[in-house]
Amino acid sequence: MKNNYHTHLKYCNHAEGVTEDYVTEAIRLGFDEIAITDHGPIPVDFMNKQEYKDNYCTENMKLEFVPKYLKEIEASKELHKDEIKVLSGFETEFIYDRVSFYQFLRDQVDFLNLGVHFFKNTKGHIIDCYNNLSYRNIEEYKDTCIKAMETGIFNTLVHPDMFYCGYKNRDGENKFDEFCEKISREIIESAIKNNVYLEINCNNIKSEEVAANPDLWKYPRKEFWTIAKEYPELKIIVGCDAHAPKRLSGYHVDAIYKFIDDLGLNVLEKMEINH
Ligand SMILES: [Zn+2]
Ligand SMILES: [Zn+2]
Repeated sequence: MKNNYHTHLKYCNHAEGVTEDYVTEAIRLGFDEIAITDHGPIPVDFMNKQEYKDNYCTENMKLEFVPKYLKEIEASKELHKDEIKVLSGFETEFIYDRVSFYQFLRDQVDFLNLGVHFFKNTKGHIIDCYNNLSYRNIEEYKDTCIKAMETGIFNTLVHPDMFYCGYKNRDGENKFDEFCEKISREIIESAIKNNVYLEINCNNIKSEEVAANPDLWKYPRKEFWTIAKEYPELKIIVGCDAHAPKRLSGYHVDAIYKFIDDLGLNVLEKMEINH
């Protein structure tokens, strides 16, 4: 790995370290580029109080902290400009009727990662990706991803296969079926059309035991990336999604590169900023 465009800091309340910790570790590892993309703020009026709590929205940066966050990244950028390229960003959700807020965040950083951990459905309820998603819900997940990609605000859709975490088919089983295949194709085709990168995410591999068994992985999900392989024009990158400086390398990253090799996937090393 030479570049990583998905990194969290302690400011989201569930990661460790500040910009300098990651940048110095990335320099030690010989990286050319690192992007700091902590979980961006979620205004409290985006959903009701219970939904805000249930979806861990306080585990995201506070809006008031944004200027300090940006200043900190700028300082590391300048300090290490001869050693490594440092980029600023956020990973944000996408609530479809709040586009101007995401544009407001986009305007302050080098690029945005779109990470759909929950979404607002057609009835206006918030649904999260980890709990019991029906085939209708994964359609809503897909619609959210596509609407977001069509705004032109987001450079990369991270862990696009996250919907599989909570997916249950009509028999209540967590199986990658024809509904999963359908929405996977629609997400991939929209990413191509809108020139958005899709990311293979390393962070869900939390132990060496899990690393050794890709069949257990919810994301990256083998079936999703096997479909992706059918689209040579798709732009794919790998993201550490590091929540601690030491997670910029290790067994989880090695396992992902083996997974990519085994599938014969073509992955880009460097990310261009297109949006
Ligand atoms: Zn994420
Ligand atoms: Zn992340």
